[in-house]
Amino acid sequence: MKTVMISEMSWTEFRDLMATNDLVVIPAGSIEQHGPHNPLGTDMLIALETAKAIGQKAQAPVAPVMPIGNARNLIGFPGTATLDPELLRQVMVQLCEAYIRHGAKRFLFINGHGGNASTLKNVAADLYARHGAISTQTEWWLTLPKISEFPCNDHGGKYETSMVMAIDEGLVDMSKARTVPRKNLSPAVAFANGLEFRGVKLAMNVPLDRISPLGNYGAPAEEADAKMGRKMFDTYVDYCVGLAEELRKIVL
Ligand SMILES: [Zn+2]
Repeated sequence: MKTVMISEMSWTEFRDLMATNDLVVIPAGSIEQHGPHNPLGTDMLIALETAKAIGQKAQAPVAPVMPIGNARNLIGFPGTATLDPELLRQVMVQLCEAYIRHGAKRFLFINGHGGNASTLKNVAADLYARHGAISTQTEWWLTLPKISEFPCNDHGGKYETSMVMAIDEGLVDMSKARTVPRKNLSPAVAFANGLEFRGVKLAMNVPLDRISPLGNYGAPAEEADAKMGRKMFDTYVDYCVGLAEELRKIVL
């Protein structure tokens, strides 16, 4: 394959590929603030670049990245964009349906943004109910803590910034990387990695600028490191390649 990116293939190349392959990798991102030191496209870039590497190793085609996600709680930060979750669901379903029409039966969503997670679960349910297609999603910050030494307990902090540096160090301005204390919502509703009350996570979608004035939080951004990011990147990609291979073994 000269490329795994569907955007770089001709229609005849895609047609011929789908004669022997029924798996498509779908990167889903977001354009949103990640602190003053990271690009707004952090989630989009991580989803796209990991998906590209996964597609190459698994020899699976990769869809164009969905650049905008559901980032309503970050809209207070300039440059952030957001899509209504229902609209995002429809766009993702229709994107996958275009590939189903031409032979796809399995989808691996490489999700770069937590706000997309529940929408993608609904997309997967729709694709199965309507077409019998199977799909699943992975998120690097949930996967790596299970399979590596990286806790990934931040937004635009040590770990996420390292992932961006692994992709392109020139996109990160470490001179602006700072970590400031988070504000509590009430004396006992505090923000760890999400809002919590007595150590139990709360579903409470409060604008992040009320809690984190710089936008990044969690493990200190000042400790980000490109070498660590490359290890995180490769570990996650290897896991997803294994998952892609396993998805192909599921009898439909
Ligand atoms: Zn992010």
